[in-house]
Amino acid sequence: MRCILSKLREEIEKRRTFAIISHPDAGKTTLTEKFLLYGGAINTAGSVKGKATARHAVSDWMEIEKQRGISVTSSVLQFNYAGRCINILDTPGHQDFSEDTYRTLMAADSAVMVIDGSKGVEAQTRKLFKVCVMRHIPIFTFINKMDRDAMDTFELLDDIENELGIATCPINWPIGSGKDFKGVFDRDTKRVMTFADTMKGTKEGSEEEFDIGDAKLRAAIGEEALGILEEEIELLDGAAAAFDQGKVDAGQLSPVFFGSALTNFGVETFLKHFLDMTSSPLPRESDAGLIDPFSEDFSAFCFKIQANMNARHRDRIAFMRITSGKFTAGMEVFHVQEGKNIRLSQPQQMMADDRHIVDEAYAGDIIGVFDPGIFSIGDTILTGKEHFSFHGIPTFAPEHFARVCQVDTMKRKQFMKGINQIAQEGAIQIFREYNTGMEEIIVGVVGVLQFDVLKFRLNNEYKVEIKMENLPYEYIRWISNEGVDVDAIVGTSDMKKVTDLKGRPLLLWVNEWSIRMTQERNEGLELAEFSQD
Ligand code: GDP
Repeated sequence: MRCILSKLREEIEKRRTFAIISHPDAGKTTLTEKFLLYGGAINTAGSVKGKATARHAVSDWMEIEKQRGISVTSSVLQFNYAGRCINILDTPGHQDFSEDTYRTLMAADSAVMVIDGSKGVEAQTRKLFKVCVMRHIPIFTFINKMDRDAMDTFELLDDIENELGIATCPINWPIGSGKDFKGVFDRDTKRVMTFADTMKGTKEGSEEEFDIGDAKLRAAIGEEALGILEEEIELLDGAAAAFDQGKVDAGQLSPVFFGSALTNFGVETFLKHFLDMTSSPLPRESDAGLIDPFSEDFSAFCFKIQANMNARHRDRIAFMRITSGKFTAGMEVFHVQEGKNIRLSQPQQMMADDRHIVDEAYAGDIIGVFDPGIFSIGDTILTGKEHFSFHGIPTFAPEHFARVCQVDTMKRKQFMKGINQIAQEGAIQIFREYNTGMEEIIVGVVGVLQFDVLKFRLNNEYKVEIKMENLPYEYIRWISNEGVDVDAIVGTSDMKKVTDLKGRPLLLWVNEWSIRMTQERNEGLELAEFSQD
């Protein structure tokens, strides 16, 4: 027994589960590839679901993915490195950015933010960052593309602090950028790692390391670069926040690293520090208090549902984050929301280039389980005598809206059934006009591709053709005040009042500044970007 328990502890202790967030093209895929290269999970860079064709092979699940050559949903990559078992949650960007991207962050214990050194903080990073802040998870910054001309390093840090409101603590410091990029200085060891091209990162870096006082360093990077480095370090030591693990854990201080994912420079250093500065899976809040990940009893929550993996069946895969204990194939669990025991069949885990059936998995891991239509996002499953449920997953503000109705009025019933079902899966959100008595449905999505998914699925699964009229709104907020008189809210000319499926009132605007105007006109009105059910 003791032996089993210590194995459980050992397995969970070595887990690290994180998401990578970035704006498209900052280098998330490239960095992930390099991580896998170090983990030995792939042999050559370029084999992680690259763009269209490679992805195609990986996830041939949904018809729409095939048509478009993109992956609609995010997946998980697992690999071992330095005695740790690492789960990377992929957060889709580009057009396939959706509410799932946000939900994926609910399953991560920390986040790595990849920033393009020439661009600084960009729109999508900002959005994803907000969710990390809401969860108070540690956020690590990797400033990428230092082999290209980058913004001034101090300006980059200011940009992060001002745009995102998080303090930064550079763990290393770049020496130049672009064609003058000479390497990075490690502030802790006071050693410089010089930049060497690694044939576009196809082999592990063969950087050289020197003490800052080493005469050979002068020869390696040149007098001028060394002078600038010394000046900048002095400035930095006087100005930057000191490293504080407690603040990192609380998501208040972001350790910053510089490198070049493409040329594989600074990646391993980053990975090592990152693993040392993050912890194994932490306890999670439930309605029965904190749940200890090391508990013998298994528990997990569902953070994503992927429909129609197999075009011939309407089956779905529910993605579960294991929060405590150990999962074994075929195990019986209690599904709290349904109040029933169920057997988890076909558990799957996503790998770099494949899905495979898992026999066992531990707290920190993500499993995909076959869902005959019983799971909803946020559901809890568990073994053990004590029944509890984890806090639900928030609903995130959609950014695109359309008025939707069925083409054939005779098909209203099917249309409503389909659209409600798809909304329940969390692929779209549906709203109704406030107090107009109109039957029309307003659909809100985080990423525009979800409109195509909706159209396709209603047609394919429910045989309903729909008409869609795009609406100009981009901003939506839930009203957090209890018992507010919605009729009395004075809005701007571009504002619209709607209600969600649960009858809660929401406000929609075309312009962002109208949100502030509305708040000014209605004293005490509390508006929220997320809705915690
Ligand atoms: P993602 O959209 O964030 O996943 O970005 P990718 O990893 O696909 O990278 C976008 C583009 O930037 C690709 O053409 C990469 O080869 C390139 N790239 C990624 N990292 C670097 C880097 O460190 N230096 C340079 N010069 N290019 C990079």
